[in-house]
Amino acid sequence: MSVPVITRFAPSPTGALHLGNVRTALFNWLYARRHGGRFVLRIEDTDRARSDPAHEQSLVAALRWLGLEWDAGPGRDDLAGPYRQSERGAVYAAAYARLEAGGQAYPCYCSSLELEFARKAALQAGRPPRYSGPCAALDGAGRAARLAEGRSPSLRFRVTPGPIEYTDLVRGPQRFEGGDLGDFVIRRADGSAAFLFSNAVDDGLMQVSHVLRGEDHVANTPRQMLLIQALGGTPPAYGHLPLLVGAAGAPLSKRDGAASLASLAEAGYLPGAVLNLLARLGHRYGEDGWLEPAALVAGFDLGALGRAPAHFDEAQLRHWQKEAVQHAPASVLEAWATGRVPPGREADFVAALRANLLLPADVAEWAPVVYGELPCPVPELAALLAAAGTPFWDAALAAVAAGADYANLVAALKAAGKSGAALFKPLRAALTGRLDGPELARLMAVMSRSLLTARLEAARRLPAGSL
Ligand code: GLU
Ligand code: ZN
Repeated sequence: MSVPVITRFAPSPTGALHLGNVRTALFNWLYARRHGGRFVLRIEDTDRARSDPAHEQSLVAALRWLGLEWDAGPGRDDLAGPYRQSERGAVYAAAYARLEAGGQAYPCYCSSLELEFARKAALQAGRPPRYSGPCAALDGAGRAARLAEGRSPSLRFRVTPGPIEYTDLVRGPQRFEGGDLGDFVIRRADGSAAFLFSNAVDDGLMQVSHVLRGEDHVANTPRQMLLIQALGGTPPAYGHLPLLVGAAGAPLSKRDGAASLASLAEAGYLPGAVLNLLARLGHRYGEDGWLEPAALVAGFDLGALGRAPAHFDEAQLRHWQKEAVQHAPASVLEAWATGRVPPGREADFVAALRANLLLPADVAEWAPVVYGELPCPVPELAALLAAAGTPFWDAALAAVAAGADYANLVAALKAAGKSGAALFKPLRAALTGRLDGPELARLMAVMSRSLLTARLEAARRLPAGSL
């Protein structure tokens, strides 16, 4: 019998969402959508000191911006909710009680100093530094005595020796030895739930079927499987993705400017660019070209997940942004132009310049070319314009005055004896003040006759001897 696919994104709202987290969210979303399953958003805010509702709000906004809608989550509750761990205290209390009642968890009264001491002693003796279990066999009297000393206990999970095995969706067969793990803390002495515990309890109760997450969580997996089983649940299938690294090979961190999704969105990167980039970091698509979200979903395959470290590269991001701009609805790009070009000209501007726009900032570079004033030509340009000669500009001015469009202007200049670079270079230089850019025909179509005339006249005025 096949289990329904339920995946989740379980961020801790302790900082800005960086691209590594976003990729984790994306892969889980893609997998759920690919299999008609459910995608759950769970906020792991048990670390009260470091969690901040402002971070939760911004990560929710980021997921929406990317179009990664969730089927259940904060504000979209169902029976498995609430979806904020800070609101699930009663759920965890019940799980602790169940484990204690079954003898699968016991209070540990060791102080952090004692634990540290035992850890060092074990290391010095060449033994693994796991919990050696002084509290595992305490009876009622022993516990009472320690409580009387004013100690507040943590709660430990009792690990039975024996193999723990699973097949990782990315890394293949994995084997751990229970005896190596040691009994681990599931409730801290201050009463708060250990990350590992609340994460596993919720995966079990929310019937998560597949967990795709960073490989920094591999070591948690056997403990989490034991917990879920002890509570009567079935562990999900786990896949641990190689971490995203920067060009230099160092992990992308929250401090890495380009690595924060918010900074990319602010610079004007489009959601589709981020999706196309991230969906290919650690996952291979048959298609190298641009894919719309539905196609990203259709082509997502666990068998195409890779084990090599996934490199984030700015050049790749720009490549996908260029694609995203080419595929964007005009309205998106017109919004970039609003306020930066004369009112009412946004659509024309975008139609002419789409191929030259990568980010909103590029509008500011091209708007003066199409509507504004050009700076005095740099010496090379001035030389080029002067060398074209007065008859060239006279012919061009006459054609524009007669209402010529681009094709007729070129025809008039050819009739005046110019062709090739001797025609197109000075013409472009005069009309745009530069030697590169969109097709002149497109540009001319959106420039006013008076602006064209003024620029040709300025070129004509350059003294021939100004070389
Ligand atoms: N809150 C954990 C994190 O952000 C979740 C890890 C997991 O996906 O299991 O790292
Ligand atoms: Zn202890």
